[in-house]
Amino acid sequence: MSDLEIARRAAIRPIEEIADAAGVPRDALEPYGRYKAKIDPTRLADRPGRPGRVVLVSAMSPTPAGEGKSTCTVGLADSLARAGQHVMIALREPSLGPVLGMKGGAAGGGYSQVLPMDEINLHFTGDFHAITSANNALAALVDNSIHQGNPLNIDPRRVAFRRVLDMNDRSLRSVVVGLGGPAEGTPRQDGFDITAASEIMAVFCLATDLADLRERLSRITFGYSYDRKPLTVAQLGVEGALTLLLKDAFKPNLVQTIAGTPALVHGGPFANIAHGCNSVVATQTARRLADIVVTEAGFGADLGAEKFLDIKARAADVAPDAVVIVATIRALKMHGGVDKADLAEPNAAALEAGTANLLRHVRNVEKFGYSPVVAINRFATDSGAELDWLLGWCASQGVAAAVADVWGQGGGGPGGDALAAAVLAALDRPVDFHHLYPLEQPVEVKIRTIVQEVYGADNVDFSVPALRRLAEIEANGWSGLPVCMAKTQYSFSDDATRLGAPSGFTVHVRDLIPRTGAGFIIALTGAIMTMPGLPKVPGALGMDVDADGNAVGLF
Ligand code: ADP
Repeated sequence: MSDLEIARRAAIRPIEEIADAAGVPRDALEPYGRYKAKIDPTRLADRPGRPGRVVLVSAMSPTPAGEGKSTCTVGLADSLARAGQHVMIALREPSLGPVLGMKGGAAGGGYSQVLPMDEINLHFTGDFHAITSANNALAALVDNSIHQGNPLNIDPRRVAFRRVLDMNDRSLRSVVVGLGGPAEGTPRQDGFDITAASEIMAVFCLATDLADLRERLSRITFGYSYDRKPLTVAQLGVEGALTLLLKDAFKPNLVQTIAGTPALVHGGPFANIAHGCNSVVATQTARRLADIVVTEAGFGADLGAEKFLDIKARAADVAPDAVVIVATIRALKMHGGVDKADLAEPNAAALEAGTANLLRHVRNVEKFGYSPVVAINRFATDSGAELDWLLGWCASQGVAAAVADVWGQGGGGPGGDALAAAVLAALDRPVDFHHLYPLEQPVEVKIRTIVQEVYGADNVDFSVPALRRLAEIEANGWSGLPVCMAKTQYSFSDDATRLGAPSGFTVHVRDLIPRTGAGFIIALTGAIMTMPGLPKVPGALGMDVDADGNAVGLF
């Protein structure tokens, strides 16, 4: 059965029942239809014994074989609930572009999914629409200011704020706007990014409350003047309007898992170009409601976990109490050199070789002060001998591990009991959390630290434009910001084809983008795109609606 068919057959409960069980008072609940609701965090009372503890789910380097991070996040939370824990999930919202592009949603899979999965994967509660609108309002206001006499002396060639769309649309990567004569604006080269890569999305996800949202929006640098001074939203005077456009979207969305566990699905920045985790507001709201919050950081631990621990944990008090790294036999074999077509065959040598990738992620997480738990996400093709070997290997490395069959059995069944027990044991262990680098270090030193300590590179090389940008960052007083690396998720290096645990490589930083509202500096490496394209056979080709109005062929 497909993920969609499993989701459709699941018994879904009215959202009020889920809210009642989670302790959300009715006057804090704003239903969107029957199975989704927004929660107004300002109407929640503080409860004794809270805030709850945070479990961060990350993974080894992803492969086309699929790792199942969201699946394990949902399954782990369901299994903790089954063990009697008061638990809640905090997840990102899916982006529509990839939904229509590559097959694979972002609501979990098998019997570990959040519901209603089709709505969550499509328009959901309209948050992406609101973020897109706020972004494009700012873009329009900037161009209007240039057109209306340009009081801020904006250099049209140095407008740094791009328009966005929640779509994979390569034709819009580079466009010219303002054509048509004096009444149609000032012509300049522009381009579109995908909404999930926008600074508004990052600001939305890092802001702690409405006042902080407004403050961060006001700090966005949208461009530079003719005399090369940075220009902010505060100078344009539109942070109030942008906050207004975002005020309802900013409330976290409550949904449920197949097993009935409450989940907040809110905010969706990409993990390669942005920081890749759900909103701070959702994580904090979940912590006020539950004893344990299970949350996910996008892609591998080199990107998602590092950014969670160095960026999100700095923006708000959300440092995890335990970290889980999802691994699969299939992904380990791919990192050990096996082709995707041959993954079902046993291959002990490749499995062993692939552990180098997992081990580097484990040691990296240890550098932040955690003893991570490896969650082995079981696929039907995995043999008992392979799973036993991997458990033995983890034990030999001194790493806690458990096999999880939450995709096949559902977190409501016993498939995730061992993982839940391992995570509860990890929550009892002391944590000596620290960030990887101090903020006072110069930006190039912070980048070098991440590249050498986390990726295992020998060196980092800055292009001439990147060096120029480093000087600008210093001159504008932004060097105290953390770094948000934009790197391929498939490799520790900036070359997607170098699987396993490569060594002896250099990471190439080709440009730096200051995101002064979000509060980080993006370091662009390799060929990372801020507007993806659609594949040759987009997922959209198999999608439809049946005679009863149900989604067909979504995943
Ligand atoms: P990630 O969060 O790492 O991107 P997901 O949890 O979204 O991964 O899962 C990606 C796809 O892989 C989904 O379609 C899901 O159904 C599938 N999947 C995950 N775990 C398993 C498993 N154990 N067996 C079979 N398919 C799985």
